[in-house]
Amino acid sequence: MIWRVFRFFLFQMAGALLGWFLPLDQPLHGLLLGIVLASALWVLLDLWRGMILLAWLKEGDTASRTRVGGLWGEVADRTWRLTQSRDKKVAESQGRLNEFLAAIQSSPNGVVLLDAKDCIEWCNETAAGHFGFDPQRDVLQHIGNLLRDPVFVAYLNGENYAEDIVIVGPRSSASRPVQLAVHLHRYGEGRKLLLSRDVTSVEQAEVMRRDFVANVSHEIRTPLTVLGGFVETLQTLPLSDEERAHYLELMAQQARRMQTLVSDLLTLSRLEGSPPPGTEEWVPVAELMALCEQDGGDLSKMLVTQSHDLRFSVAGHHEIAGSHSELLSAMSNLVSNAVRYTPAGGSIEVQWQNMADGRAEFSVKDSGPGIAPEHIPRLTERFYRVDRSRSRETGGTGLGLAIVKHVAQRHGAELHIESRPGHGSRFSIVFPATRVRPIPS
Ligand code: ADP
Repeated sequence: MIWRVFRFFLFQMAGALLGWFLPLDQPLHGLLLGIVLASALWVLLDLWRGMILLAWLKEGDTASRTRVGGLWGEVADRTWRLTQSRDKKVAESQGRLNEFLAAIQSSPNGVVLLDAKDCIEWCNETAAGHFGFDPQRDVLQHIGNLLRDPVFVAYLNGENYAEDIVIVGPRSSASRPVQLAVHLHRYGEGRKLLLSRDVTSVEQAEVMRRDFVANVSHEIRTPLTVLGGFVETLQTLPLSDEERAHYLELMAQQARRMQTLVSDLLTLSRLEGSPPPGTEEWVPVAELMALCEQDGGDLSKMLVTQSHDLRFSVAGHHEIAGSHSELLSAMSNLVSNAVRYTPAGGSIEVQWQNMADGRAEFSVKDSGPGIAPEHIPRLTERFYRVDRSRSRETGGTGLGLAIVKHVAQRHGAELHIESRPGHGSRFSIVFPATRVRPIPS
């Protein structure tokens, strides 16, 4: 600064010196004129520099530096340095903001920021997908205009956001239901953060769990009620030995029914809760087929007066990698179903065939009533029955095909069902090549 003042006075002195030598009547007048002219020149020079600085500031191109001298030059220099450090800070905060938004963007949960008037300020793609918003077009729209579900509107307008609510997604349809859990949180000055989560599968699992418990209770209650009735009869009525024996047999039947149900439930829970069988244990196919033949024959004799025409055929000598008990349970379930649903005298063909690509197929074909196409996709659901009374009469639990499907999946196999009403059914399990091998002779 002192140097600048010194330079200013030096300039004035130079002006005064030049004025001294001017051809005026008095050298003092020349000196004063020199000083005035030097000051005017100094002011003009400064004005010009100031105008350069002003033009640079107006242009706003702070990336390039302006080169002016004097005091204005220093102002320009400091302004440039200030804007540089400010730009750096802005770029850093923008980078952090972008990272933050990218993190929220990749969140599996929907995030919507609402201003104090409940208008959308920003939303991530997940929220846009959940609610059918357009992340650009719907900014500043009132959320109540876009989400009209009465449950949500009441929640938004109410003051209690302690719990979340579950609403039906705007894009939900009968074939693809969507359930969304929505939670509002207050932040800042009257602003709200809306979080959404797709809970369709959780809700479906909960419905399935409730249905399952209701089904099991119902299945157990029916034989229990019958049993209770018989006990009461035995206690209150004077019965002959013959009648007593008859009632006891009926009671034993109901007890067996409950036992089968509990045993099937335990099998299912074991199948769901244990790791799939490895490839250490190899089970000979012929052994499984022989056991199925024995069980099928016995059941047929027990159920119908005129036995079925049961035919078993095994191609080659093969073995399957997996659990003996699970494989036997799946295969004999299919044979037992064929026997139970095929009327007396009908034919049942059980086959083991090796396919050209190394896979193998176990199939059970019957000449029974067949199944209408609308039932086929649901047959493996627990407790789903087409012919409820036939199932009950023959000791069915409604869990057989669910067990077969689980066992097949655990062995990497596929369960196929082909059936037409009036034309019988064909159930088959196709085992992968990795689980089938010929028995070395
Ligand atoms: P269930 O113990 O009632 O037999 P499953 O799960 O084994 O239960 O079978 C489900 C339903 O599929 C049965 O109730 C029956 O209506 C139908 N079904 C299964 N196998 C056959 C078959 N071979 N022929 C006709 N209907 C069948």
